Amino acid sequence: MSSDGQGGGYRGRIAPTPTGFLHLGHFVTFRTAWQRARSAGGTLIFRNEDIDPQRCRPEFAAAALEDLRWAGLGWDEGPDVGGPHRPYDQSARFAAYRVACETLVREGRAFFCTCSRRDLAEAAGAPHDESGEPLYPGTCRARAARPADGAPVALRFRVTDGETVEFVDGRMGPRRFVAGRDFGDFVIWRRDDAPAYELAVVVDDAAMGITEVVRGEDLLLSTARQLTLYRALRWQPPAFFHCPLVRDAEGRRLAKRHAALSLRELRARGVRPEELPSLVGSGVADG
Ligand code: GLU
Repeated sequence: MSSDGQGGGYRGRIAPTPTGFLHLGHFVTFRTAWQRARSAGGTLIFRNEDIDPQRCRPEFAAAALEDLRWAGLGWDEGPDVGGPHRPYDQSARFAAYRVACETLVREGRAFFCTCSRRDLAEAAGAPHDESGEPLYPGTCRARAARPADGAPVALRFRVTDGETVEFVDGRMGPRRFVAGRDFGDFVIWRRDDAPAYELAVVVDDAAMGITEVVRGEDLLLSTARQLTLYRALRWQPPAFFHCPLVRDAEGRRLAKRHAALSLRELRARGVRPEELPSLVGSGVADG
């Protein structure tokens, strides 16, 4: 595996979460992933990140495949084309996530956490990370076993306070984070018995041999958390390339409320796929 994500062994991925229709912001990130895989002569994987049973819907997963194909993107492995790492739907990969959790518990890197969101919000004076989340105050850090009363528990990864996480981003250059200051102990298995994003994405990127992760800049802090998981699991991390976020005319990040900028809606309005790149930065949406 090449350490900079380049070369013929390049393996990239596009990994949408099917909680709504894809918009121009997703298109920009996924087109960058597609271009980087193509220009490296590598392989691109489509992975459907449908781990959240509350929020994900099969019709959005089907729409993502269809809309990205309409937009001119293609992939070499995925739910619709198969491949050596199937299944490509995260909802069918829970066994692998459980194995990683068991390893982390066994090695004393994860603990059982009974804190509710309210408990965390109320932890007096708790410092917050840059996304506004309170840093985990450490309440359950010593709980190495599941509580006997069957109370709902999350599993949290115990970060090493003061550990530095450094990487050279393919677009943004050197980045540095400090565990325990920039982010705290984070959930890897949720109280409602589903894997958390940070864990699932690391397990799959490692299992699928991904050499470079292309994602939005809003996930920089997640990348730092994920690098601590790679280290704890003794897996080789991929390279990272964080894309700029697309904003609306008021400077707000594109989100589900921007239905008018969904690929589906643009297509219905007669926009042609080759016109999509020119809509970004045109006043409709800014890159
Ligand atoms: N599936 C996640 C998303 O759509 C993250 C993808 C990633 O890890 O790059 O935001």
